[in-house]
Amino acid sequence: MTEHRDPERPGQPGRADAEHEGRCRRCGVSCHVAVPTDRMGAVAVPGLHCVFLRQEADGKFGCSVYAERFAKAPWCHHADVAAPLGYLATDCPYGSPAGSGKVALEEEEFAKVWPEILRKLRSWGVPAYIHRQALLDEVARRTGRRWVLEPWPGDDERLRLRSVTALAP
Ligand code: SF4
Repeated sequence: MTEHRDPERPGQPGRADAEHEGRCRRCGVSCHVAVPTDRMGAVAVPGLHCVFLRQEADGKFGCSVYAERFAKAPWCHHADVAAPLGYLATDCPYGSPAGSGKVALEEEEFAKVWPEILRKLRSWGVPAYIHRQALLDEVARRTGRRWVLEPWPGDDERLRLRSVTALAP
């Protein structure tokens, strides 16, 4: 598990002042898991996101544990740390290095890469820190089948996505 990335801890990088925080557009892309695709780069997958991510009344995303996220979500990275790792959106206001970062596709474009993404999710598994029901709902909606998440043998930080049955008509 990644060590905590708290900018207020001695020796840790990052800022937490109001100007820095205010640059966030609350798109939620950094808190979604992205899957590398052949044609579109690292694509953020709808429904595949941190367990603490919430869609708020204004339609934008927010973190339900933001002030304590580095203690409660050890997988979470400050933007200064996330950027060079390619964990932010390609067009994030905090900046992503050229050629890195995640993209959020419009539905029409996403539908074209969905078969590749689903194949990779089934093959590689998903992180255990995700919102499990959100992913199961999304995959069921896209496939018309019912799915489960199971422990990945020998790896506590990963889950296996498995189809169990067709949805009732
Ligand atoms: S804990 Fe981190 S990754 Fe999770 S929703 Fe909050 S900011 Fe995003």
